[in-house]
Amino acid sequence: MDRDGVGKSWGCSPGPHRPLRSFRTTSRGGSRPAHELIAVVSPGYWTSYGDIAKVVGLPALGIGHHVASCEDCPDGAHRVMMQGGVRSEGFHWADPEDDRDLLEVLQGEGLTFDAAGKADPSKHLSSSQLPTMRMQKAGQ
Ligand SMILES: [Zn+2]
Repeated sequence: MDRDGVGKSWGCSPGPHRPLRSFRTTSRGGSRPAHELIAVVSPGYWTSYGDIAKVVGLPALGIGHHVASCEDCPDGAHRVMMQGGVRSEGFHWADPEDDRDLLEVLQGEGLTFDAAGKADPSKHLSSSQLPTMRMQKAGQ
């Protein structure tokens, strides 16, 4: 059940194509704050690309592409979903042999989904909460 392995990279690996190569080169400094925010999303919680984008000042699409193409997103990248808690269809694990079902993994972490497949809104970490949590985590 506990696949929250330390040192295992989750959720983002270089895909066959890298749609936003320029994103990586033009915003090298932009991935670090995104990573810090992704890292504060604990098991059982979720946030959206848009929330992270709002905090770091990038378009949501850029965050989506980042997670899809980044090679070193922290544990928690699989907890970043689309607006409203909808799982991203483009999601894949960093390990190509990892065939776990994203929904099952998230449910295993304690997150619940409604009949429409949307994540529990009470477990949503919004753009106003993320910076506070990042600060708390940094202060630990
Ligand atoms: Zn990343």
